[in-house]
Amino acid sequence: MTPARNTTPNSKPDTAPRSNGGLAGDVPAGDLRVQARDPLLKLIRAHQPVSRADLARISGLRPGMVSLIVDDLKADHWITEGGSVARPRGRRPTMLTLNDRLAILVADVRPKRAIVALIDLPGRLLTRRIIPLASEPQRAIRSISDCMAAIQAEHPSLTIEGIGVSLPGRIDPSTQHLIFAPNLDWANLDIREAFEAQTRLPVELENDANGCLLSELWFGRMDGIRDAVLVAIAEGIGTALLVNGQLSRGRAGMAGEFGHIQLDSNGPRCACGQLGCWEMLGSSSAALRFYDEHRHETGAPAVSTMDSLLHLAEEGDPPALAALTRQAEYIGKGLRLLVAALSPEVILVTGEITSLWGIFAPVIEKHMSANMLAQVLPRLVPATDAESARLRGAAAVLLQRVSSQRNSRLPTNGRTVAS
Ligand SMILES: [Zn+2]
Repeated sequence: MTPARNTTPNSKPDTAPRSNGGLAGDVPAGDLRVQARDPLLKLIRAHQPVSRADLARISGLRPGMVSLIVDDLKADHWITEGGSVARPRGRRPTMLTLNDRLAILVADVRPKRAIVALIDLPGRLLTRRIIPLASEPQRAIRSISDCMAAIQAEHPSLTIEGIGVSLPGRIDPSTQHLIFAPNLDWANLDIREAFEAQTRLPVELENDANGCLLSELWFGRMDGIRDAVLVAIAEGIGTALLVNGQLSRGRAGMAGEFGHIQLDSNGPRCACGQLGCWEMLGSSSAALRFYDEHRHETGAPAVSTMDSLLHLAEEGDPPALAALTRQAEYIGKGLRLLVAALSPEVILVTGEITSLWGIFAPVIEKHMSANMLAQVLPRLVPATDAESARLRGAAAVLLQRVSSQRNSRLPTNGRTVAS
């Protein structure tokens, strides 16, 4: 199978689902068949086992259109139809379910290590392994590919649709080079080509923050949400932007570098060259630095990891609480700018600080909402388990690309179907 190189998720029609699938309205039949594929798949995932008639009722689409799309999904082996349920009267409908024999190999690449996993179409994590990575990219890609081959051999009954890779940096869509990834020395390499040469499977790459947001869109809790921001707080701060139902990548894949907006012109110097960037003040590294500054005044013991700092705070240690509160204040101040710029409905937060969400969310919210112009503030939600979200996001980007590639083969016409 050859991956579609000429399509990007950004060029896809607007397909983000609303609560009923977002499918009602007058749209040309050919376009609707393309646009409704992913939302209908999501409805099957949410309601399975489900009949065609119930799918038409839930989505608001005409039964004929539902049948066309269901037949497309069956032809691609993404869903299966069989079994029936007893109904009080009338014919027993056959039921649709996602094909759980279809799976995606995924890798979450971090500095020095990768998590390699197998995820089925319904989004379940079937296998997960951690492997160490060499710093030389070709050797690292070889290790990941070997691990994937071993996992595939252990699951002979599954069909592998392709490979999704989550990376800690921005990816230039035209060259598939990793750009702006200070923690990973993989520049000047076509990463997709390198993986495809090793694995002979279609491969898609995605920035880790974008992957987390995609995971929420495909497998998670974002039904009906059109404008959202995901803020990934770790050693730095990464953001992913959903604008009007579309993941915003910007020119050369560089949209979302909110971590480098300046919050304090007298702040510490950032790796980007500027003083007082958001990520120098609101990241996990900043919390550790704040603690260290305070530690010298109080003579408290040194702490080297965020886990230890959070543990101290949980026990009520005043310097640890003060350091994390200061971090939370800066997270809130950065979010205030982000809300002013984008006015999202939801802000998803990933990162260690969410493990003490009950303590620090009120601090973040207070500083986010200070002197805010917006009448209705966004919901601030901790994303569950960033690692799983990155793995599922890598699966989602592969599925989205394959879906888009198959849709591009469908005939379109100008006929209008009132749904
Ligand atoms: Zn910076």
